[in-house]
Amino acid sequence: MSDDRFDAIIVGAGLAGSTAALTLAKAGMEVLVVERGNWAGAKNVSGGRLYGHALEKIIPGFASEAPIERKITKERISLMTETAATTIEYNDEDMRREETASYSVLRSKFDKWLAEKAEAEGAMFVTGIHADEMIVRDGKVCGVKAGDEEMEADVVILADGVNSPLAQSLGMKKELAQDQTAVGVKEVIGLDEKVISDRFGVAPGEGCAWMMAGFPSDGGIGGACLYTNKDSLSLAVVLTASEIGNSEYSVPQLLERVKQHPTIAPLIEDGKLLEYSAHLVTEGGYNMIPTLYRDGVLLAGDAANMVINIAYTVRGMDFAIESGRLAAETIIKAKEKGDFSASTLSSYKTMLDNSFVMRDMMHHARAPKLMEHKEIFTKYPVMAKEVFSEMFTIDGNPRRHLMKFAMPALKKSGGIFKLAGIGMDALKAL
Ligand SMILES: Cc1cc2nc3c(=O)[nH]c(=O)nc-3n(C[C@H](O)[C@H](O)[C@H](O)COP(=O)(O)OP(=O)(O)OC[C@H]3O[C@@H](n4cnc5c(N)ncnc54)[C@H](O)[C@@H]3O)c2cc1C
Repeated sequence: MSDDRFDAIIVGAGLAGSTAALTLAKAGMEVLVVERGNWAGAKNVSGGRLYGHALEKIIPGFASEAPIERKITKERISLMTETAATTIEYNDEDMRREETASYSVLRSKFDKWLAEKAEAEGAMFVTGIHADEMIVRDGKVCGVKAGDEEMEADVVILADGVNSPLAQSLGMKKELAQDQTAVGVKEVIGLDEKVISDRFGVAPGEGCAWMMAGFPSDGGIGGACLYTNKDSLSLAVVLTASEIGNSEYSVPQLLERVKQHPTIAPLIEDGKLLEYSAHLVTEGGYNMIPTLYRDGVLLAGDAANMVINIAYTVRGMDFAIESGRLAAETIIKAKEKGDFSASTLSSYKTMLDNSFVMRDMMHHARAPKLMEHKEIFTKYPVMAKEVFSEMFTIDGNPRRHLMKFAMPALKKSGGIFKLAGIGMDALKAL
C-alpha cells in the first residue's frame, strides 16, 4: 500500500466511521480513517443510550468486552412544570434480555474502544487531522485534502457527523434548516456508583433512561434526557434551533434550571462536573435523508441525517452502526467488480431501504410534525399537574369529583378535540 492511496478513506471516527472501517478491514481492504479529534470519540456527544442490536451483528456479545456503562432496565418519561413532574415509569424483566438490551455509554470511551477494534483488524487511523476538502476528478470523488496533504482512494465514506460540510460541498446535502435541527447541551456529572443505584432504584450494573418535556425547554420544542452511567449521570437539554430566543433562557441556562428542579436536584446532589459538551442533532427524520451516494462516495450515520427523535427516545447510534456496516458491505462488493460508480454504489440505498434504518425512519416520518404541537411542551404538563395535584391533595376541604376538576383543566389546555387530534397524530407517528 502506498502512503497516500487506499482502497477506502473514511472521514470521521464516530460509530458510523469506525464500524465501516472494522467491516472493511476484516475483509482485507486497505482503509484509512481521518479523524479531527485527538482520539476517536474525543469530539463525540450523545445523550447516551445505545440499542445494542446493530453492533451485536458485528461483534456478538460486545457488551461483555466494550466499555458500556449500565444496561437500561428502567424507562421514565416525565411531563414537568416548574415545581412538579408527572412521570410514567416502566420496567420489565424482558429489558434484561441480551438480544434486545440497550446500554448507557460514554462516547469518549466507547468510540475509542470501537476504533481500536478496527485498528486491530488493520484499519489505519490518523487523528488530529481535519479533512478540509474533497478531491473530485471528472465528477468522481477520488479522495480528500487535509491542509497540504492529499489522500486518495477508490471510494470515500463521509461519516463526519451532523453538519458534513464535505457532503454539502458535493451538493449531496443541504445546509441544516433551523426548524429541523436541535442544539443539545450536556453535562456528565460524577457520583458514587452505589449512590446512583440507590437514588434511581436500580440493581448494580443496571440503569435508567429518562426523557422529560415541558419545563426543561421552557415550553419550546425540545426536552431533557438523563441516563445513568456506571459512576456518573449524563444530563442533557435539547432545544430546536428555531426556538432559541423564544425563551429568556439560553440552552446552557435551561440545563442549569433542570439541575435545580425539585425532582432532579436531589438526584444529582454532591455530583461533580466531569464533562461539558454541546452538539447539534438533526430532527427532520426521514424527509431529511440526503443523496446517499454518488460516483466514488457514500454518506453514513449523522452525515446522512439518520436520527429520529420520537419523544420517548432518541436514536442515531444504532443507525450509524448499521449504515456504516452497509456502506462497507457495498464497497466490498464494488471492489469485487472493480467499479465504484454511482450505479454500483446504488446498492447501498437498496440495502438501507431493506434494513431497519430506513424502515424505522419511514415508520416515524410523521414524528417531527407531532413535535410541532406546542401543547405537549406548554399546556399538557400544567394540565397533568393540576389534575394530579387535586387528586393527591387531601387537606380537609370538600373533595370534588374528577369530572369537576379534570374537565376544566382539559378545556384550559385546548379541549378534548385538540387532545384527541394530538392523540391521533401520536398514534400515526409513533
Ligand atoms: C445531545 C444528544 C443526545 C443524543 N442522544 C442519543 C441517544 O441517547 N441514543 C442514540 O442512539 N443517539 C443519540 N444521539 C444521536 C447520536 O449521538 C448520533 O446519531 C451519532 O453520534 C451518530 O454517529 P456518527 O458516527 O454518524 O457521527 P458522530 O458521532 O458525530 O461522528 C462524526 C465524527 O467525524 C469527525 N469529523 C467531523 N468532521 C470531520 C472532518 N472534516 N475531518 C475529520 N473528522 C471529522 C468528528 O470529530 C466525529 O468524531 C444524540 C445526539 C445528541 C447531540
